[in-house]
Amino acid sequence: MLEISAPATGAHLASVPETDAAALAELARKGRAAQPGWEALGTKGRSLVLDEMRRWLLANSARVIETLISETGKTHEDAQTLELAYALSALSYWSRNAGRFLAEQRALSRSPLVFGRTLVTRYLPRGLVGVIGPWNYPLINSFGDCLPALVAGNSVILKPSELTPLTSLLMAEGLREAGLPEGVLGVAPGGGDAGAALVDLVDFVMFTGSAASGRKVAERAAQTLTPVALELGGKDAMIVLAGANLARATNVAAYYGMLNAGQTCVSIERVYVEAPAYEAFLELLTDKVAALRCGAPAGPGSVEVGAITAARQLETIEAQVADARAKGARITTGGSRIEGTGRFFAPTVIADADEGMACMREETFGPLLAVRRISDADEAVAAVNDSPYGLGAAVFAASADEGIALARRLKVGSVCVNDAAIHYFALEAPMGGLRQSGIGVRHSAEGIRKFTQPQTILIAPRWMPDHEPQMYPARASRSRAIGRLLRLLYGR
Ligand code: NAD
Repeated sequence: MLEISAPATGAHLASVPETDAAALAELARKGRAAQPGWEALGTKGRSLVLDEMRRWLLANSARVIETLISETGKTHEDAQTLELAYALSALSYWSRNAGRFLAEQRALSRSPLVFGRTLVTRYLPRGLVGVIGPWNYPLINSFGDCLPALVAGNSVILKPSELTPLTSLLMAEGLREAGLPEGVLGVAPGGGDAGAALVDLVDFVMFTGSAASGRKVAERAAQTLTPVALELGGKDAMIVLAGANLARATNVAAYYGMLNAGQTCVSIERVYVEAPAYEAFLELLTDKVAALRCGAPAGPGSVEVGAITAARQLETIEAQVADARAKGARITTGGSRIEGTGRFFAPTVIADADEGMACMREETFGPLLAVRRISDADEAVAAVNDSPYGLGAAVFAASADEGIALARRLKVGSVCVNDAAIHYFALEAPMGGLRQSGIGVRHSAEGIRKFTQPQTILIAPRWMPDHEPQMYPARASRSRAIGRLLRLLYGR
């Protein structure tokens, strides 16, 4: 049994049965049995269910927000502005675009060997998809990743984090009421063991979580050659050059460093500031972070920074602060737990950080911004590109052109110029990471096609001569003709 408690208050919320091997196998059996009927509805029919779910979500938004807040400890604003808004826009986006992204495509090949044939490419559902999610955004990540998989015609088994299964169970209830056929979505509450067992049962794994778990998923999936998409951790940097608008840069750093108490894969965790702007940036940032209210959410407008959802996370944050202190960094605000019944860490700014400190190299996943002075842009680019992670970055410069030029030098999945992290909400653009931040992308056409298996059908026309391609018996004259043709086509 999973005992779910509220990180912000310590209150016991629910006892949820864990999914054992037999229950998981039964979910897989039901999913496979229901999938052909679901596929047969076509993207139009399936999109109607998403539309109905969007209406359900709006009608039940208070209940959904309350569930999110209680099991994660996030603020009302983080639950509403980030989670709910994302889910609504994702339901709308996939419903409107799935048909276009998955439409059959026809092409005529330019290869002389395929002359005259028509090519048709179809995007077939993979069958049964396993979605394994983290605890930081139960709606955006776990539920959000089910949507393109479902509308592509797959059945899905969702294995939410063992810390936050309640939102996923509520979303499954919503989808049932929205008309999703029985068996198409199964929710499998459980821990890492259930996630690992799920990998063996499905045709594709969509995993979001830490790089360490992602590696285990990839290893296990390799045994059955099951394809995976991995959305993993990050250590997103902001670069601030002299001449940048410091009022905006510090607002963006404070917001995207602290939102969801820093427990966001694309949080800003480290900031590189060019020397002439360093002291002014630090002062402004410290003032803004020190002004944030941190504590148990008590409705809209009550606090800016909520709880630390996973107990082990508090230890990581504390260890990084202690490490930075011991190596000569200054803590300009925050720096310790807030004692009380819930799990809270004071919003923290670490000044004079450098790459020798864990807070600049390892994912923090907490309300902590580490700031380093740099002599020029090259120094920051080298530090960003040297990171084991390559998820996102943000750039502030004196002009848009300077910012864009800097963005193009960064080896990460996404860069925001004069902004940060918000690209996640632009479903039109692919979002993913390099190096240990993952494999594959979510969003855009690529974010739904990964849940499909492309099938090519080649059609030779009826007028194709009986003797074509007549390569037998081999003839020297034909070889000479082919040589001339290849030179003609490719010789320039
Ligand atoms: P985690 O890796 O501990 O757990 C993630 C999920 O994997 C959970 O459901 C867990 O039960 C399951 N799991 C654990 N071991 C497994 C195994 N061997 N096989 C299969 N499943 C297993 O991560 P977390 O602490 O829940 O989440 C935080 C991490 O997620 C951070 O690193 C964060 O950056 C990352 N994250 C990434 C993105 C992104 O889009 N790139 C989004 C959100 C969170």
